[in-house]
Amino acid sequence: MTRLVLKRGREGRILAGHPWIYRGEVAEVVGDWRADEPVTVLDGEGRFIGRGFYNPRPSLCCRLLTRQDEPLDRAFFRRRLEAALVYRRQAGLVASAFRWVWSEGDDLAGLVVDRYGPVAVLQCLTLGMSRVRPWLIEAVRELGGVEHVYLQDDPTAARLEGFEPEQRWDDVTGPAEVEIQEGLCHFLVPIEGGQKTGFYLDQRENRGRVAALAKGRRLLDAFCYAAAFACHALLAGASEAVCLDSSAEALALARRTLDLNGVGAKAECREVNAFDELRRLDRAGERFGLVVLDPPPFTRRKDALEAAVRGYKEINLRGLKLVEPGGILATFTCSYHVTQALFEEICWAAAADAGVRVRVLTALSQARDHPVLLTVPETRYLKGVLLERV
Ligand code: SAH
Repeated sequence: MTRLVLKRGREGRILAGHPWIYRGEVAEVVGDWRADEPVTVLDGEGRFIGRGFYNPRPSLCCRLLTRQDEPLDRAFFRRRLEAALVYRRQAGLVASAFRWVWSEGDDLAGLVVDRYGPVAVLQCLTLGMSRVRPWLIEAVRELGGVEHVYLQDDPTAARLEGFEPEQRWDDVTGPAEVEIQEGLCHFLVPIEGGQKTGFYLDQRENRGRVAALAKGRRLLDAFCYAAAFACHALLAGASEAVCLDSSAEALALARRTLDLNGVGAKAECREVNAFDELRRLDRAGERFGLVVLDPPPFTRRKDALEAAVRGYKEINLRGLKLVEPGGILATFTCSYHVTQALFEEICWAAAADAGVRVRVLTALSQARDHPVLLTVPETRYLKGVLLERV
């Protein structure tokens, strides 16, 4: 088997539990490399560390999949998928929709699998995973009671890794849209052509938290996508909702979703740039008892962190101005490089500029079917905070 030998002294982080190997840490790759064949990773002294797929193209060139001396074969991937399912069953997370596999968080670096009713959406993020896709599909079908598998690779990751991203049904064509249930709400998940894998499962628990505070309040759901926060809040007794998104497709989905849940009459959907609309609402003197800010990541890169921080400060400043006294702001960042501490500092600076005092009700994170490994900080990407204006 091909061996990837690390430079001397570069194994510390990896032995401490982090699965990533960068090109600059590699002394040599010995033997014939093939994309679909795992490499054995050795430290600079020739000691076994683990196995994973190697790809000479990206600077993050190898992600360990095991630290045991075991083959990465069909049975291996089946075991890992099964373990991910067992964790979710035991934690009570198996529902009509849930994330079945969260990449490094489930020791399956480079793979994401979401379940939407009878459909599994499978996303390969590395060349190696894309090459073992037939095994993954087979295991997903066998283990999960799945009727249809949709392949939904992330084009950016595929370009970086050098493989053709798949966006198609495996085998038989399945439903273009699936209805799922989350708490009291029913949601429509576009399997073909939606955002992400169709739905933002990572906010499941936060939507419940926000709904618990919604009774009698007027809600602003900024960056709403399918208006999932608004649906939960309205069903929990919010008086009305204003939903903002810049995507016409997202808003069409939001409108249909609100109607499906019988709360369409209490909601208004606006196709706008949320930054501009928040300022306009402030100038118009509008106020809300509950504001949700759930923007897309402002950066995926560390070197663009400063600009992202300015963006988060600005949006939170504008959001806080719209919160009436006694009202609540639920605000999020899904930029990995913005830590919880940094995000709270940003919100604090925004509150100071807005001239309001806020109480932290609770810190927020991603749903538990997106498991976080302490040894892999990159698995924790969604952070938030629930603030009350006092
Ligand atoms: N809150 C949603 C997920 C939001 S994802 C949920 O719980 O499901 C982020 C959304 O922000 C996307 O729908 C995207 O279309 C929208 N968006 C991106 N940039 C925007 C902008 N400048 N103004 C308004 N919406 C924007």
